[in-house]
Amino acid sequence: MVNNTYKFLLSDLKNIKGVGIKTSNILRKKKINTIFDLLWRLPKSYTDRSKSTKIEDIKIGEIQTITLVPYKYNFPRKRNLPNRIICRDNTGEMDCVFFNSYEGYIKKILPLNKEVTISGKINRFKNKYQITNPKYVSEDPSLIREKHNKYSLTDGISEKVYNKIINQILSNIPKLDEWHDKDILKRFNNISWNESIIELHKPENVGKYKSNFYERLAYDEILASFLVHSEIRKKIKKIKKQKKIFNDNYQNSILSKLDFELTDDQKTSLNEINLDLKSNQKMFRLLQGDVGSGKTIVALSAAYNVIKSGFQVAVMAPTEILAKQHYNLAKKIFDKKIKIEILSSKSEYKEKKNITKKIADNNIDIIFGTHSIFQKKILFKKLGLIIIDEQHKFGVNQRKKLSDKGGNNCDVLLMTATPIPRTLTMTIYGDMDLSIIREKPKTRKEVKTYSKLESKIEDVLKFINKEIDKQNQIFWVCPLIDESKKLDNSSAIKKYEFLNKRFPNQVALLHGKTDIDEKETILKKFLNQKIKILVSTTIIEVGIDFPNANVIVIENANKFGLSQLHQLRGRVGRGEKQSTCILMFKSSLTENAKKRLKVLKDSTDGFKISEEDMKLRGFGDILGFKQSGVKMFKLADPIHNDNLFELAQKQIKQMEKNNIDISKYRTLMKLYDQADIINDIV
Ligand code: ADP
Ligand code: MG
Repeated sequence: MVNNTYKFLLSDLKNIKGVGIKTSNILRKKKINTIFDLLWRLPKSYTDRSKSTKIEDIKIGEIQTITLVPYKYNFPRKRNLPNRIICRDNTGEMDCVFFNSYEGYIKKILPLNKEVTISGKINRFKNKYQITNPKYVSEDPSLIREKHNKYSLTDGISEKVYNKIINQILSNIPKLDEWHDKDILKRFNNISWNESIIELHKPENVGKYKSNFYERLAYDEILASFLVHSEIRKKIKKIKKQKKIFNDNYQNSILSKLDFELTDDQKTSLNEINLDLKSNQKMFRLLQGDVGSGKTIVALSAAYNVIKSGFQVAVMAPTEILAKQHYNLAKKIFDKKIKIEILSSKSEYKEKKNITKKIADNNIDIIFGTHSIFQKKILFKKLGLIIIDEQHKFGVNQRKKLSDKGGNNCDVLLMTATPIPRTLTMTIYGDMDLSIIREKPKTRKEVKTYSKLESKIEDVLKFINKEIDKQNQIFWVCPLIDESKKLDNSSAIKKYEFLNKRFPNQVALLHGKTDIDEKETILKKFLNQKIKILVSTTIIEVGIDFPNANVIVIENANKFGLSQLHQLRGRVGRGEKQSTCILMFKSSLTENAKKRLKVLKDSTDGFKISEEDMKLRGFGDILGFKQSGVKMFKLADPIHNDNLFELAQKQIKQMEKNNIDISKYRTLMKLYDQADIINDIV
């Protein structure tokens, strides 16, 4: 094996002795393609076979290593009876027992009257110690008397083989040139990357998260990710664009049509965006704010300014309904001269063609739609701003592509209503500038949150009845029964049937299979208060504004994370009336569940809730980031290593400020960043 460069680490697993096609295919299925990938399969614990024991000191149920001499074979001719080899040392006698093994094999590994060392778990049978089917048998005790790492094994690869592979890699691990500065390195006791890897895999170091080697490796990983983000940001900033020229009074003409005033945070965010628009650097900004914090109006004001400066705007929403709501708002507040259109999947072919043409001719100022507005065939004459709403699951790759899409003069604004912990924001959105709306509109009343056992459903129905009498409306959310089967809508359907009997002609149902037209009709009916209760799965995720709905019932609430519950709860409480969120549970809550619930009841601050959620559940679970394909870390943990995240953030800021050349981090970035973005950069 050649190992003088990092390239060895990125090479195929087949370069390792003992890894054939079969093994490498098994590993590939686990997304382990390179030697580097394998380094992060850490041992879970280890078996200590290093100390040998005499037969008289043997402990039942434990793994013991014993040097002994086989002196008699007992190979019964009857089926189902095991082969038995009687062995001795100078303190006693015990048996090695083999089920389903050939005599020839046994004679080979346990020749009579020759000393061997055996290691395995001891049991007792008919008053005698025995080891059953021992895997560790050798004439050379040093081959047995080691500490063996225990991995959570991949089917088809034995622990022995696994250890062998890892040991082979570790003894060939390249010595890479140090990429860290001295002062950073000092924090980790000057341990090098390759020493750290070796320490990481030592059996006795399992679980030493606070050690210098573990933290160094975690820091490498965080820094690599932040560096990539920083490079993307720098690259985007380098793009010189035509400044957008507009007067701030323009936006006042639309803001004055509203029956509220912007909050301070909304004003600040709008200012930050306007400054970007007016600058000659391309904007790549995230507007982060809790559900109902009023991001839409900020984005539309900015859009208005862009249109007034002579550019087109494209607004992309995750669902047609949301696109429609934004479109309606723009229709209402923009001046009549502005050409506003919506591109919907249900638009007729002719109409679509017409809109496409108008976009190309600059005959549309602002277009709303879902991802359909970014089809290849849609070419903008003069696109100046892309607004993307509620796309927190977009990965860095997708964002980068979007930012390229509009061309150099096109600014990009992303919006997300998923307040996430600071360390995660740094990690996930590090390539973007950030505007945050923390403060909610003052008119908003807090949503009262209760929990209820499902057996008490009659109480809930009574409550709902009263609310309906007061002309209020209700969301009733049923989680998918089986998350993996996205089409499993049965719980919502059943609940709809149940509720429809109790509240005839007042209930409607929305689920994953409801077709788009019907969905729109139902939502319109709900908005116009023709129906009172809307039963749904979680398909109307976020964003839609129903000011008259003031109760949300969430069934099987323990299926959701806190942040998700908070987001669902945010569907109500947008109007003037007191709102209520009822969380229903199938059975009594565990202590941990109670703790989590308390967080939700006590706080309405999405950022705070997400921090707590992360502490209680781990970061991977937050809002399904794990499933979303957003790159996560192998070692670094945004909860336990938050100091390292802060440190990396500080380092990056320093580097950006002082224009530090990043070429010495090249290897680090190449190793850790598996996204293709890196090829564009370094
Ligand atoms: P989100 O940030 O979740 O996208 P929206 O932009 O949909 O929130 O706003 C939610 C509701 O709050 C809308 O009905 C909007 O008109 C209202 N709203 C926005 N800003 C304010 C404000 N400053 N004061 C009062 N209501 C506001
Ligand atoms: Mg929104």
